[in-house]
Amino acid sequence: MTDLRFDTELRYLKGVGPARAAKLAVSSIVTVEDLLYLLPFRYEDRRRFARIGELIAGGPETTLDVTVESTRLIRTRKRGFTIFRAEVTDGSGRLQVLWYNQPYLDRVIVGGRRAVLFGRPVLDRYGKALCFESPDYEILEPGDAEGVHTGRVVPVYRRTGDFGPRALRALLWRALSELTEGTLPEVLPEEVVRRRGLLPRLQALRQVHFPPPGTDLRQIQERRTAAHRTLAYEEIFLLQLALALRRQGVKAERRTRAWRVDEGVRREVGRVLPFPLTGAQRRVLREIAEDLRGDSPMNRLLQGDVGSGKTIVALLALLLAVENGRQGALMAPTEILAEQHFRNLSAVLAEKGARARLGLFTGALRAGERRKRLAALAGGEIDVAIGTHALFEAGVRFRDLGLVVVDEQHRFGVLQRAALAGKGERPDVLVMTATPIPRSLALTVYGDLDLSTLDELPPGRTPITTVLRTERERLQVEEGIRQAVARGRQAYVVVPLVEETEKSDLKAATAYAAHLRTVFPGLRVGLLHGRMKGKDKDAVMHAFADGEIDLLVATTVVEVGVDVPNATVMVVEHAERFGLSQLHQLRGRVGRGSAKSYCVLMVGEAGASAEAAERLRVLEGSHDGFVIAERDLDLRGPGAVFGTQQHGLSDLQFLQLALKDPALLEEARTDAQRHVEGARFEADRLLASLRASWKRRLSLAQVG
Ligand code: ADP
Ligand code: MG
Repeated sequence: MTDLRFDTELRYLKGVGPARAAKLAVSSIVTVEDLLYLLPFRYEDRRRFARIGELIAGGPETTLDVTVESTRLIRTRKRGFTIFRAEVTDGSGRLQVLWYNQPYLDRVIVGGRRAVLFGRPVLDRYGKALCFESPDYEILEPGDAEGVHTGRVVPVYRRTGDFGPRALRALLWRALSELTEGTLPEVLPEEVVRRRGLLPRLQALRQVHFPPPGTDLRQIQERRTAAHRTLAYEEIFLLQLALALRRQGVKAERRTRAWRVDEGVRREVGRVLPFPLTGAQRRVLREIAEDLRGDSPMNRLLQGDVGSGKTIVALLALLLAVENGRQGALMAPTEILAEQHFRNLSAVLAEKGARARLGLFTGALRAGERRKRLAALAGGEIDVAIGTHALFEAGVRFRDLGLVVVDEQHRFGVLQRAALAGKGERPDVLVMTATPIPRSLALTVYGDLDLSTLDELPPGRTPITTVLRTERERLQVEEGIRQAVARGRQAYVVVPLVEETEKSDLKAATAYAAHLRTVFPGLRVGLLHGRMKGKDKDAVMHAFADGEIDLLVATTVVEVGVDVPNATVMVVEHAERFGLSQLHQLRGRVGRGSAKSYCVLMVGEAGASAEAAERLRVLEGSHDGFVIAERDLDLRGPGAVFGTQQHGLSDLQFLQLALKDPALLEEARTDAQRHVEGARFEADRLLASLRASWKRRLSLAQVG
C-alpha cells in the first residue's frame, strides 16, 4: 500500500474495509482527514491505575487495570432482565462488577482477559462488598501497545458507525502514526500560525487525540491546551473567511435601481407615526436609510429585545419602498403573528389615512381569495405583502419587490430567507430578531450581515416582576390570577411540550385547559396550541385581544411577538424545561401596557433541582435580553439558543469554546478579514482546499 494521505478514503485503512467504511460515511466520515476531526468527547487518565485494595465506597471515578477471573450471566425472574457479573482482580484485591441487560458481555468479558474499567466504587445491595455498576470497560488484547490504550491520558470517543471507543482509538492511532509530517496540508496561513503562537495542524491533531506525557488533565478536559486552541482557531478562521468572502461578494453587488430617501419621502413616511420614536429607533432608521441610499443592496440584521419596538421600524422601512413605487414583504414566523402585523399595521395606516395597500397571505386563505390576492400582488395593487412562509411558495409573484423584512428570524431557515430574497430583482433585506445575540456570537454567525441594535425600550413601561414558585405555592398563584382578572386584566398560562411531537403538545394543553376550567369556574378559559387550524387560532387570539377570554392556556405558539397590552400575568408551567431566552420571550408577552405585570415561573417539584432554580433566577434578576442570552449561551450552548439546523452551528465543534474566549474570536476574525482584503487569491485557495465536510458546514452557516 502506498503512503497514507489525508484524503485517502478510510476503506483503504487497515481494519476498516468497505462495509465498515460505509457505516462511517453515514456520519460524514469518509477520508482520513474526516477521521482526524472525530474528536474525543472526554479523556481518561490511565497514567496511573488505582488499586482495588485502595478503593473506598462512594469514592471518585477510578480507572482499574484488572484481570477477569470469572463471569456469570444471570437471567432474573423478571422477563428479559439480565445481570452480567464479573469477578476481577488486580493483585491487591477482588472486585465484583455488574452490568444490567447487556447479556452479550458474556462473549466479550471472558475469564482470563485483561480489562480496563472506569467507574465509581459503590457498596453492593447487601451493603457489604464493594462493586462497580455498569462501568466503562475495555478489553486489552495481548500485545496491545502500551501507550495507546493504557499508560497515558487516553481519548474516549463516542461510538460511531461500527466502532466503539477502543476501536476508534486504535484506528486514530494507526492513522496518526502513518501520516508523515507534511502530508496534511496546512489550513491556516503560516504567518498566522506563527504570529498567533499556534501549532502546525498535524501536531495539534496528534495532541488532541493523544495528549503528550505531562499534559495537565484539567487543562485537556476543559479543552484549553494549545492544541485545542489551534483547532478552534482554525475552525473560527475558516468560518470567518467564508463569511468575509460572502460579505465582500454582497458588497460588490451593485443595485440596479436607486432608492430615493430624501426629506420629502421621509416626511411622507413619518406621517403614519402614532408616537415619537425612541432615540434607538431613529438611529436604526438612519442606518437603514443609509443602506438604501448606498450602492449595494442592504443585508442588515436588526436585533432588539422584546418590546423594543421593531415593528414600527419595519413599517417605516416598508413605506420607504412604497414611496419609491416598489413593493415590500413582511414575513412572520407564525400565522398568528402575520395576522397581528396585518391588523396593527392596517390600523396605523388607516388612522393617518396613509395610502399603502397591505395584503395578507397565509395558509388559511381560501383558494379563490388567494388567487385574487396573488393577482393583485403580481399586478402591483398590493404594496406590502404580509405573511408566513406562504409568501415564498412558488406561485407568489411580485410586480417589483424592493424590500424584504423578516420578523423573528430565528424561526426561519436560511434557505427560506434566500427563497424570498430571490423573488425580486435582488431586493434589500432586513432581518429582525428578538433573541439578542451577544456581539461575539453575532460577529461569528452573522459575519456577513450589518448589525443594528435597538437598545432602548419605548417610554412608559412598568417593569415586570418575575418570581419563581413551586407546587406548594400553587394556591397563591391561582389567587393572583383571580385577582388580576377581577381587576379586569387577562392572563396567560403556558405549558411546555411534553415531547417534541405536536400530538402530545395538543393533549397536554387540552387537558390542562380542562383542569383550569374546574379550578377557575368563574373565568373564561381559552386554549391555543400548535395543532389548531389557522382560522381557529386566529379566532382565539381575536377573542383574547378583545377581552373575551380571561385566561389563555397556550403552548409556546405565543412565544413570539403576540401583543395584548391588557394581559398582565404570565404563568409558565415547568419553567425549568425552557431555555432562558425563550422564557424571556414569553415574559415579553406581558408588561406591554402601563399596568403592573407579573411573570410567574412554576418549577415542578420533581424537576426543581437547585441547579434549575439557580438558572431561572437569572430571569428574576435581569430584564436585559442581552444579559439573558449570554447566560443562556453559557449554560446551554449556541445550538440550544438558536435551533441548530438553521445555522449549522451544531457542526462547529469549537464554537462553544471560542465563545468563552473572545480574544480568540476577535483575532480569528481580524486575520480572516485581512486575508480576504489583502490576498483574495490566497483566500480562494484556502477555501478551495477545504474538506468536503467543511464546505457543507460553511454553506450552512452562511446567512442572507
Ligand atoms: P418588538 O420589538 O418586540 O416587536 P413591538 O414592535 O411589538 O416590539 O413594540 C412593542 C410595543 O411598543 C407596541 O405596543 C408598540 O406600539 C409600542 N411602541 C413601539 N415603539 C414605541 C415608541 N417609540 N413609543 C411608544 N410606544 C412604542
Ligand atoms: Mg415583534
